[in-house]
Amino acid sequence: MREAITGNLLTKTKKVFAKTVKRGYALMVIPNSQGTIRCFSIPYLVFLSVFVLFGINTYFLCRYPFRITEIMKLESEINSLQSIISKQDKELRRLDPYLRATQEIESDLNKANKFLVKMEKQYLEVRNRKSTEELSVRLVNLPQYKLSSTDREYSKLAVLNDNLEYLAEEISYTTSSLQDLLTRYKDYDRQLDFTPTIWPLARERSISSGFGYRRHPIYKRLIKHQGVDIPCRQGTPVRATAEGKVTIAGVRGGYGLLVEIDHGYGYRTRYGHNSRVAVRVGQWVKKGQTVAYAGNTGTSTGVHVHYEVRVNGVPVNPVPYMK
Ligand SMILES: [Zn+2]
Repeated sequence: MREAITGNLLTKTKKVFAKTVKRGYALMVIPNSQGTIRCFSIPYLVFLSVFVLFGINTYFLCRYPFRITEIMKLESEINSLQSIISKQDKELRRLDPYLRATQEIESDLNKANKFLVKMEKQYLEVRNRKSTEELSVRLVNLPQYKLSSTDREYSKLAVLNDNLEYLAEEISYTTSSLQDLLTRYKDYDRQLDFTPTIWPLARERSISSGFGYRRHPIYKRLIKHQGVDIPCRQGTPVRATAEGKVTIAGVRGGYGLLVEIDHGYGYRTRYGHNSRVAVRVGQWVKKGQTVAYAGNTGTSTGVHVHYEVRVNGVPVNPVPYMK
């Protein structure tokens, strides 16, 4: 029953379709004055196709101006983007000098580190000390300096950032090491102020009688000479060979007019046979300050300075302390 209805409907539809296809339109061309009237028969399907094509064309025709506006808009956008890119390109090229500067800082730091090791070694030499560990130069190598990658313009910034971060760390290390060395040198310099290092006379550089056993010019027997004798003119200023406190400023037996200075660290110096003293006991004197004037007082055969260096109360050869 159901199939019969469906079949019936199908045949009916086919018939309607056939009818429609067969249907058509007649196009009459009528001249306005004389001539034959022409009549064209246009099938329904052709008519329909022309109509549809006309519709499609009209659609695109209407759309076209809008598309053109869109394309123009995109074009201007592309232009502005290109100008931004070229601007950024210029900006990135401005990084080049900074990148070069980081390389210069790298080489300067290496120089500073080499200098540091040199000064460190010199310090140990001066202080007569041996290093517990091998001194080596800390070499500064920038982490990455390659600009050959494809995104090199962007990596430039990253490289610059990395370099700056690395250099900041290295600079702080080198600075603190140099600072530390400078402090030690300053301390040593201060200690040197209290160590006899100069001649007691500014110009005279001859020694008429050295340190050690000698036949005494007055007693005529072998007596240990506890210092050195430096001949000079009467009244020549005698200077302190290191900073310290005056402990003797007056006549002391064979020394005649004597000045003694305590420099701390176990050091004392003595200046004998003076004609006059220029300091008093308890006075603080600087290295090079005049403490007396040379003369011929005490057991002496001529104008000279008798100079003594004592370490923990024991007279030592003053020559190594006279530079
Ligand atoms: Zn002497």
